Amino acid sequence: MQIPDIIIAIDGYSSTGKSSFAKIIAKEFSFLYLDSGALYRGVTLFAIENGYIGDDNTINVPELDKALSGLDLHFGPNGTYIGKRCIEKEIRSMEVAGKVSPIAAVAEVRTFVDRKLREFGRNGRIVMDGRDIGTTVFPDAQLKVFMTADPLVRAQRRADEMRAKGMETDLQEVLKNLQERDYIDSHREVSPLTQAEDAIVLDNSHMTMEEQLQWLKNIIKERFGL
Ligand code: C5P
Repeated sequence: MQIPDIIIAIDGYSSTGKSSFAKIIAKEFSFLYLDSGALYRGVTLFAIENGYIGDDNTINVPELDKALSGLDLHFGPNGTYIGKRCIEKEIRSMEVAGKVSPIAAVAEVRTFVDRKLREFGRNGRIVMDGRDIGTTVFPDAQLKVFMTADPLVRAQRRADEMRAKGMETDLQEVLKNLQERDYIDSHREVSPLTQAEDAIVLDNSHMTMEEQLQWLKNIIKERFGL
């Protein structure tokens, strides 16, 4: 199916399968996939390694903000990079997961990430997933999906994914982490996680990936008269 050069924004709660869905969409329509959460995770790893965030999650915002101007965070052949170093594995750790939402609530961090995301997306034909893509990063995106699913289903999926990567996993810990992130992400002052008015809700608790793709294709056909 040939579709126009649009931007597809996929937002929603943690571990609802946004990135898996976005990757399938990118493959199906030959779009570029961009994972905005990876940049927030990258900033978090940078903040941990350089002591800008403490064990109790207090953040030295002025110092972090200063350091961001020299942070070369970008996407490369194997995922996310700081300079030449691939950080894809480290940013998926529970340590980063436990600190990313407080970091993502910092206005200066959001400005830094938003600038990068808009640069990457300026030519269209992209699918980007995150929490505020349809509301803040690309409010004019032509197609917005807001994803949700039962928390226990989400925790189970995330735990399975981590186990498959050989990471030690505790289901209760994963569940607690995603509920905490949902809470912080939905209640922060800057760009909180909310459904854009023109977003279409997808609850995939009991849907396969194929069913989700078919659901989207039907919407695209209808909306763009294909
Ligand atoms: O998508 P992922 O779970 O990797 O995102 C990690 C965290 O980054 C989220 O819990 C959220 O705090 C933050 N995030 C955000 N805005 C986005 C994408 C991610 O605040 N657009």
